[in-house]
Amino acid sequence: MSERLRLKKNADRRLKAGHLWLYSNEIDIDETPLKGIEPGAQAVVEAANGKAMGIAYVNPHSLICARVVSRDANVRLDRSLLVHRFNQALALRKRLFEKPFYRLVHGEGDLLPGLIVDRFDDVLVVQLNTLGMEHLGEEVVAALDKVFSPRAIVFKNDTSGRRLEKLEHQVEVVQGTLPEQVLMEENGVRFSVPVMSGQKTGWFFDHRANRRWLNDLVAGKRVLDVFSYVGGWGVQAAAHGASEVLCVDSSADALVQVAENAVLNGLAGQVAVAEANAFEALSALKAEGEQFDVIILDPPAFIKKRKDIPNGERAYSQLNREAIRLLGRDGLLLSASCSMHLAQERLIECVRGAVRHQDRHGQVIYRGSQGPDHPVHPAIPETAYLKALGVRVFRD
Ligand code: SAH
Repeated sequence: MSERLRLKKNADRRLKAGHLWLYSNEIDIDETPLKGIEPGAQAVVEAANGKAMGIAYVNPHSLICARVVSRDANVRLDRSLLVHRFNQALALRKRLFEKPFYRLVHGEGDLLPGLIVDRFDDVLVVQLNTLGMEHLGEEVVAALDKVFSPRAIVFKNDTSGRRLEKLEHQVEVVQGTLPEQVLMEENGVRFSVPVMSGQKTGWFFDHRANRRWLNDLVAGKRVLDVFSYVGGWGVQAAAHGASEVLCVDSSADALVQVAENAVLNGLAGQVAVAEANAFEALSALKAEGEQFDVIILDPPAFIKKRKDIPNGERAYSQLNREAIRLLGRDGLLLSASCSMHLAQERLIECVRGAVRHQDRHGQVIYRGSQGPDHPVHPAIPETAYLKALGVRVFRD
């Protein structure tokens, strides 16, 4: 391989500690000018003393200018290494799950920086989030085809991360034909998933274990699922005996799918929907004198960048306050955040403030995170992003 990236003195420490990213200010550009490297090319990463440390793909125009794909400087990320990585990823999921519905590839957590693949049995939904991965798009498809022979492969390339890498949106079936309905199962409940038109890859696999925890506590309860999307929490709660579920979302399409998913499980009578802004819906429900035993708050990320932290924390606090007003005397709040920049302690702090604001007591009885099909890379805190708190909220 001809391309090289020489690190400045001491800039190799993070890499040695396991990290996979290189920042542009860590490169010795006198020795190896970044600008001379073709965007998307792979290069040998060298320590300051010239020793080869591995292979990375390069985007000279991005702050993270390179991501390591192998510690073996003699290979490159090509179809054959992709096949190997997919098999490694598959082996883990097979140990974890009986059925073929899961996140198959979680980017850096599966040593494939910039790549997400979600599996709905024989439908694979792919997100290429970096220029380096974008360049490997065809190889990714060929390697997935080799390992899975899927019925369809979809590119759902519409993430915000792509904008940072100056990549266009591309949402398309790139191989095979998509069945009319993409069906999956989670915690024994069936769902139809809108992979083309829905959020992200179509489904949020990351909350599987948190939903399972809640499922055991909802029998006979009146449940409010806020930011419900297609009913991941709400329809599961109904399937586990909730007497009544109300799903609130601002997307009419998502709510149509909630209704379909309720029907799919024979629960049409138990699940109602309301199309509304969540904050407005919570005040309206309060004004109407409604009360719930269990409330789920699983919003989109309110904090996307570090500078959003103060406003984002205010939004989480307000949301939790509004929700707690709707809980009965002895209620259960499931409060989640997928904002990587919000630490679990900060979410607990938002809930604490909200509980006190309503002069109630709180007991944190569950602290969940993303499921094991979203492995955390131990050197990359950004790969751990999900929080789910189960909080009993009661009055004296
Ligand atoms: N809880 C869902 C995932 C939520 S995704 C699950 O478990 O699958 C975020 C959802 O919030 C989307 O469906 C989006 O339509 C909805 N949304 C975003 N902003 C909203 C708002 N202000 N009010 C209500 N819904 C909103």
